[in-house]
Amino acid sequence: MTIILGIESTAHTFGIGVVKNGKVLSNVKRSYVTEKGGIIPIEAAEFHQSNKKEIYVEALDKGDIDEKKIDAIAFSQGPGLAPCLLEGIRFAKELSKKLRKPLIPVNHCIAHLEIGRLTNAKDPIMLYASGANTQIIAYEAGKYRVFGETLDIGVGNFIDNFARYAGIGFPGGPVIEKLALEGKNYIELPYKVKGMDVALSGILTNLKQKLESKKYDLNDLAFSMQETVFAMLVETAERALAHTGKNELLLGGGVACNSRLQEMCKIMCKERGAKFFCPEKSLLVDNAAMIAFLGEIMFKSGIKEKNLDKIDIMPRQRTDEVNVIWKKQSL
Ligand code: AMP
Ligand code: MG
Repeated sequence: MTIILGIESTAHTFGIGVVKNGKVLSNVKRSYVTEKGGIIPIEAAEFHQSNKKEIYVEALDKGDIDEKKIDAIAFSQGPGLAPCLLEGIRFAKELSKKLRKPLIPVNHCIAHLEIGRLTNAKDPIMLYASGANTQIIAYEAGKYRVFGETLDIGVGNFIDNFARYAGIGFPGGPVIEKLALEGKNYIELPYKVKGMDVALSGILTNLKQKLESKKYDLNDLAFSMQETVFAMLVETAERALAHTGKNELLLGGGVACNSRLQEMCKIMCKERGAKFFCPEKSLLVDNAAMIAFLGEIMFKSGIKEKNLDKIDIMPRQRTDEVNVIWKKQSL
């Protein structure tokens, strides 16, 4: 029996999750939101600092967990906003000392991917669509390789930025999704797929200009933005399926909560005879259950660190830098 506690703090969300033998026992989180404007990293870090103790107690309560039974503490090491990551690692080290248990440093993006195992995806292409990250990822030869990605901003940040410009607070994605449902007219926008990559900042500028001109309805712009940008993501994901010969698509990250993106992925998969997987909503947006879940897999393959001085945050850690030594053992 293994019990792993996970800590998530890469950006807007502070979460604590507990996993026992691959089963999520608790997944508690609080997220920093704004009425106007985007995330201010220092403010988000202060939010984490003032909420972490309560979240910890709540997570243990919810899962009915005795802290003495925890075997190790997994935490998001990167990528993420440095002030936010620091709150997470500080708390992880505090707990590690108090409980005398080792730490497991987890890559946040790979956690988004590995939690897909709960959907029974075996060897998928992952379309990872979140706030700061947008990548097409698949496992090949010891690493999660990035087959395509955004050349500038993540799709969630792109949507949030557009929303902010229209006077909507953070996170803007869910509000934009509702507005898009009211949109009736497709307004042509630039379509920017470059090989396996996508570029979003030019489309953002175009959308802002259209908003400023006051000639277009916001609902129509929201609808057209989703249709265009999600088509770009689905196109590159489909090409990755074709290139690799894999036949499973796993959708993940906060933007994966969007029903239209899910629908477009499903249609593409159906048309080419691939299987579509998407974890439940509580495991899509940033959460700590996925950190504990991957932490447990890593722990079981021998990854743990008792020397706390050896571990630091890695704000710019890339998915393909991580040696995925646990994959061979667990397949
Ligand atoms: P993550 O960084 O993975 O936690 O994802 C957060 C991002 O997901 C933010 O940019 C949100 O605006 C975005 N998001 C959440 N729900 C939706 C939705 N229904 N449609 C589009 N984007 C969303
Ligand atoms: Mg994330």
